[in-house]
Amino acid sequence: MNEFTSWHQDTLGERTVKALIKNNFGAAYVKTAKEAMDKILALVPKEAAVGIGGSWTLSEMGMTKTLEARGNTVYDHNKPGLAPEESMALRRKQLTCDVFMTSANAVTLDGQIVNVDGAGNRVAAMIFGPKKVIIVAGVNKIARDVADGQNAHKALRCPINVKRLNRQNPCVQSGECMDCQLPTRICNVTTIMHKKPAVTDVQVFIVGEDLGF
Ligand code: SF4
Repeated sequence: MNEFTSWHQDTLGERTVKALIKNNFGAAYVKTAKEAMDKILALVPKEAAVGIGGSWTLSEMGMTKTLEARGNTVYDHNKPGLAPEESMALRRKQLTCDVFMTSANAVTLDGQIVNVDGAGNRVAAMIFGPKKVIIVAGVNKIARDVADGQNAHKALRCPINVKRLNRQNPCVQSGECMDCQLPTRICNVTTIMHKKPAVTDVQVFIVGEDLGF
């Protein structure tokens, strides 16, 4: 990465972290996913039961494998080979786990966190239930404001997730949201965390790399 891009990412990342802290979230800016991983592992006891929300960012980081290798119980409903009922049971366990980890669809420069979900299990666990929530977001998730975050995510990034899930929604043909009405639609619930939820400990790591989508 050239020095100007690096400067820009650091500037936006640090500015976003300051705004998150002002909104009562725990927050830190780290340059790399490796640094984020080290800080996350230091926060999570080995005996903790950890829920993993659907997140390409965590998948890219190898979070489930890393946690399992150190002895954590991990509830990851996207593990290959799960029967639908097993996947559903893991989603329910995530709602009351010790630590829930996920990414965010957008984090705004004024410190708000925007997410769009299909079933809603991920956004539910981010708000109440788990004792601790850890959110990891690359600088590519930073948005100017809530409207910008919603638009960028739903219009242009959701179709990538639909493609990843191998669904045949119209956005897979067009590359942009067509506001479909199909049962396979993944954009049914939008949440905006304006401030840290009152009784949930939420820690956000903004990473100076592009992670997820
Ligand atoms: S609403 Fe439908 S068309 Fe739009 S991004 Fe979501 S799944 Fe795709």
